[in-house]
Amino acid sequence: MVKLNEHYQELQQNYLFSEVARRAAAFAAEHPDRDVIRLSIGDVTRPLAPAVVEAMARAAREMGSADTFRGYGPEQGYAFLREAIRDDYAGRGVAVDADEIFVSDGAKSDLGNFTDLFARENTVLIPDPVYPVYVDTNVMDGRNLVYLPGSTENGFLPGPPDFPVDIVYLCSPNNPTGAAYNRAQLQAWVDYANGCGAVLLYDAAYEVFITDPDLPRSIFEIPGARTCAVEFCSFSKTAGFTGTRCGYTVVPRELSRGGQQLHQMWYRRQTTKFNGVSYIVQRGAAAVFTDEARDQVRQAVDYYRENARIIAAGLDALGFQYTGGVNSPYIWLRCPAGMGSWAFFDYLLENAAVVGTPGAGFGPCGEGYFRLTAFGDRARTREAMERIAALFRP
Ligand SMILES: *Cc1c(COP(=O)(O)O)cnc(C)c1O
Repeated sequence: MVKLNEHYQELQQNYLFSEVARRAAAFAAEHPDRDVIRLSIGDVTRPLAPAVVEAMARAAREMGSADTFRGYGPEQGYAFLREAIRDDYAGRGVAVDADEIFVSDGAKSDLGNFTDLFARENTVLIPDPVYPVYVDTNVMDGRNLVYLPGSTENGFLPGPPDFPVDIVYLCSPNNPTGAAYNRAQLQAWVDYANGCGAVLLYDAAYEVFITDPDLPRSIFEIPGARTCAVEFCSFSKTAGFTGTRCGYTVVPRELSRGGQQLHQMWYRRQTTKFNGVSYIVQRGAAAVFTDEARDQVRQAVDYYRENARIIAAGLDALGFQYTGGVNSPYIWLRCPAGMGSWAFFDYLLENAAVVGTPGAGFGPCGEGYFRLTAFGDRARTREAMERIAALFRP
């Protein structure tokens, strides 16, 4: 009889988003007169840029004509998109070859699939709190996990430990804490990884939200990163592709372990198990880098940035402690009066009809914290902050 992967039994049930939805729905049902505002959205809400939509429509028409029809494309992505991504990096002073870029249907897939390259015996270091995908994909494979505690003391930007590990996940700007590593902090991670032979899996899904010129938007801005790091990027949060699906992963040629080039292994993995992203979507993604779309895409990001600023300014006025709000669409606040994450969730829902996300759902170190997001409507975000101010104004 078939033997199943027993590690699936070790996965923790993630109740976070279902429980948030359940409590919000129960409240709305009990109080039909109350207007509930969600500052818990982890998805973009602004539409795709018109220039992106036009590029996709044009590509769709090409697929309907015999002389421009295309079948299977290159598994690692069309050259036109990989070259556009390369040029975007170059514009930020980062030299990456087009064939070090692998286009995919999103960062989540690549983050999960990349573990195919690693043996089960590796020890994996994962920041706490963090995006749950890193934990679950490694639990599925049966790897040993070590958590790296984030706290107010380290600004939720923990540095390297004093013991060696094999695989490290870094997410900067971080989901959920909004915290972003500076150059010196990332240099410490790169030096650590090169020192002990670890591989850094760097999730840059929110890099476009970085406005501070002193904060790196790519791990490859850091000297030494090409021998220890892989970077995961996505058009999801940067250009509104959460429903359209497109991302890319950069695997530098210099990254080898035990004489094996990870670039070559990932190429082999992708050409075997993946058949590329649709031509239509890749045309839409490439359009993001045109002058016309760039401005339109920036407008959407600026919209979220302004929401984040409004939330942060509201919390400043109340004297709340938080990270994020700048360089990130997330605001991670310390629950007032020592309240637990879920206690604060209920308090805010009942007294302000505002929904956020309890930090405890992102890992044990998230207890006592709370995530608000900038992915909502402007007027609703303002209204939510006015209600919170009315509740907590000294
Ligand atoms: C949203 C998000 C992603 C992006 O995933 P896609 O599959 O590209 O939509 C990756 N990492 C983090 C931390 C995220 O929050």
